[in-house]
Amino acid sequence: MKELARKQIKHLAEILVARAASLQSEIRAEIEANSSYGDIAGNVTDLGDEASADLLADLGNANVSRDIQELRAITEAQRRIKEGTYGLCPDCNKEIVYERLIAYPTAQRCEPCQSRFEKSSHNQQNGRQCKASTLTPSSLLDPTAAFRE
Ligand SMILES: [Zn+2]
Repeated sequence: MKELARKQIKHLAEILVARAASLQSEIRAEIEANSSYGDIAGNVTDLGDEASADLLADLGNANVSRDIQELRAITEAQRRIKEGTYGLCPDCNKEIVYERLIAYPTAQRCEPCQSRFEKSSHNQQNGRQCKASTLTPSSLLDPTAAFRE
């Protein structure tokens, strides 16, 4: 597979910058909209937007914590662009296809590795659920059990 063209990387970098800017203004709006957090936000203005946003996220503001997560992913992607590792899948060392990066500019893995990664964490969750299913009453496992004396 040929290397991502400089022009493509530049385009993706622009998408990331634009996305980060809109996330930042979303977070700022959220801070302003939450008058109940006004005092807290007022106290931390010296720390800057990011610290106030962290505080809101700690307080359980789901919108803000989701925005912050994405913002961090963007910062990571921008770091990878600087380092020259952007668009390389750390699991298989292959390049992530451009179409995927356009759809998910913060994607860390290529599609096959990402789905393998998600499956393996999904399986771990299922493993926990399997233990719970051993508590199923035997009458449910054997439908005739209820009719026996
Ligand atoms: Zn991969």
